[in-house]
Amino acid sequence: MPKAAPDAAGVRVEANGRILALSSAWFSDGARRRADARHAAKCVECGVALPNHRTPYCSRRCRWRFHGHYFWDSARSYVMLRDRYRCRICGTRRRARELDVDHILEIARGGAALEYSNLQTVCRACHRSKTRAFLRERGAADLPGEALRGREA
Ligand SMILES: [Zn+2]
Ligand SMILES: [Zn+2]
Repeated sequence: MPKAAPDAAGVRVEANGRILALSSAWFSDGARRRADARHAAKCVECGVALPNHRTPYCSRRCRWRFHGHYFWDSARSYVMLRDRYRCRICGTRRRARELDVDHILEIARGGAALEYSNLQTVCRACHRSKTRAFLRERGAADLPGEALRGREA
């Protein structure tokens, strides 16, 4: 298994094109934002006033959302919650483990990895056909496709 290497922005990209984490940003930027929010007794994500300095989050939803700016797994949980566990392509409702979170504009095409406006909940079947269509197009355009080739395997 090839090792994921961090790029300039600290994003770790797996061999199959999946983004893992902006871990360096989490430990600098994220930690500072959390500390500031706790100090101000405000939710770090939505800015709502909090009753004490114990936590920088007003809710589980805000915690997922904030973590999701840095970590794929949290972005994934938040997006599924936001989309109410419904596939945004065919509208089917499923359990979390039967759903994927997809990059609307593929990372390989320059889509943002951890930006909520570029993420959508999809069911496995829709995800497969979207990925297949993407790879077909990509093959036809003869673009380099190393990052995403693993997804079809
Ligand atoms: Zn909040
Ligand atoms: Zn679907």
